Amino acid sequence: AFITLEGVDGSGKSTQAAMLVCRLRESGFEVVSLREPGGTSISEKIRGLLLDPANAEMSDECELLLYEASRAQLVREVVEPALERGAVVVCDRFLDSTHAYQHGARGLPDELVRRANELGSCGVMPDVTLVLDMDPASAFSRATAGGQDRLEAEGLAFQQRVRADYLACAKADPARIRVIDAAGEPADVARRIDGALATASVL
Ligand code: C5P
Repeated sequence: AFITLEGVDGSGKSTQAAMLVCRLRESGFEVVSLREPGGTSISEKIRGLLLDPANAEMSDECELLLYEASRAQLVREVVEPALERGAVVVCDRFLDSTHAYQHGARGLPDELVRRANELGSCGVMPDVTLVLDMDPASAFSRATAGGQDRLEAEGLAFQQRVRADYLACAKADPARIRVIDAAGEPADVARRIDGALATASVL
């Protein structure tokens, strides 16, 4: 099974991904835990380019293609082999991030981003996607507590566009994309995630 987590910066994605991986391993699954952009040697180098504050002049098109390049390498090198041997793959961000950020927030055309996602994901779609939804204002103060990277410097209006796009995508594809209320204690959010996974029956 292929499970992805999505959400605005500071929504608790990474915490919840780590907790989910632990629960699945305790239940006896082989779990491959990944984060995007990254997860392979090439993809981590691309992540470095994307997050470097010195690359402030990066064009939207360059950014889109770097995310897709990082993703294609991750899919071919790690995700496909893991799924083929029956492992559960948990990925912190995947192609819905690219739609939310590069289309929803940056404004690249919807159809262009969808086609780029087809290429970058090599046609591999998540079985279920958990969107950790919360008010960007509270998520934002969490995310920037430790200093800002190039992308977090975009500000609150940017994060609000990201959230709106996630919610629109979830509405358009409710069978795959589940919206999880990410407010409150991590343990409560984890329970909501388990509920959503049980309903989706992907494991
Ligand atoms: O998941 P994490 O918060 O580490 O993501 C790194 C950064 O990349 C975030 O600041 C996010 O805003 C940004 N991002 C992006 N476009 C994507 C995926 C992530 O701008 N497709």
